[in-house]
Amino acid sequence: MLKLSVIIPIYNELESLPELLDELASVLRNSYEYEIICVDDGSSDGSAQFIKDQALQNEHVVSLRFLKNSGKSSALNAGFDKAAGEYVITMDADLQDDPSEIPNLITELEKGYDLVSGWKKKRHDPISKRLPSKMFNLVTRLMTGVKIHDFNCGLKIYRKEVVKSIEVYGGRHRYTPVLAVQRNFKIAELVVNHRPRKYGTTKYGGFRFFHGFFDLLSVLFLDQFDQRPLHFFGLFGLGSILISFAIEAYVLVLKIAVGHSFQKHFTLILFGAMLFFLGLWFFSIGLIAEMIARTQKLREEQNYQVIED
Ligand code: UDP
Ligand code: MG
Repeated sequence: MLKLSVIIPIYNELESLPELLDELASVLRNSYEYEIICVDDGSSDGSAQFIKDQALQNEHVVSLRFLKNSGKSSALNAGFDKAAGEYVITMDADLQDDPSEIPNLITELEKGYDLVSGWKKKRHDPISKRLPSKMFNLVTRLMTGVKIHDFNCGLKIYRKEVVKSIEVYGGRHRYTPVLAVQRNFKIAELVVNHRPRKYGTTKYGGFRFFHGFFDLLSVLFLDQFDQRPLHFFGLFGLGSILISFAIEAYVLVLKIAVGHSFQKHFTLILFGAMLFFLGLWFFSIGLIAEMIARTQKLREEQNYQVIED
């Protein structure tokens, strides 16, 4: 039988958990072998104890707990590391994602994709969230060239190879389709049912999209330059120094050919000198980044601590 791993990041979702586990069991019970990896992201409402107890009683439940709140990306990453199933499904803990969509996601994946991302086309969230989200998706689509509508949908399915080859941290869980495309995996999008939040409140404020933008820059930058940052900074450094030479040469030509004094072009000389030092500064940053890239290769580091029950 096909084995599935369902990963659920949990931050203070105690009220939703019993219903969610029931719903999942009724969808998965007779059709698949499965594990439900509940990752508690440092909850303070008893969610951690709840999933710990569930793991003892229910052979399908795996409980992972963080000592402190480390973010949804880290929670998903811990789940990705642990997942043993052929297909890996992620979904939010708050009952907004509908477990009965799982068979549809599997059907779509088996058409020959490596990742299928949910699309909350008819979304049950306040307008204060829907509007910025539209903007966020548009910008991400334009900047990455990845043509999906709902990057941040919690409900997604991946082939195991995809989750084992990507690393999510910070806010990068929003960009798993981009990370997958960067690694040449095939992705698709499927419209999924979305439900209003029944219990508890959203864990993110309006600043999420602001943070999301910086995460996007980092996703794009690291794809191109994480192994060779000097190629990025060096370009600006070289440009800056070349312009500075051109400016100083221009002043020199004016002095020799037209007889202008250096005093007359003092500001320009100063501007050229500034560009020269700016160029050196870019090179230095690039060289330091090269050293960091090398150190990183030598030492893998995780930014969360995880306990397995
Ligand atoms: N979440 C998490 N760690 C956090 C914030 C959120 O694990 O620091 C979980 C949360 O419990 C939920 C999912 O991530 O299962 C999505 O959060 P939420 O429903 O608040 O986001 P929204 O639906 O508002 O986008
Ligand atoms: Mg939600």
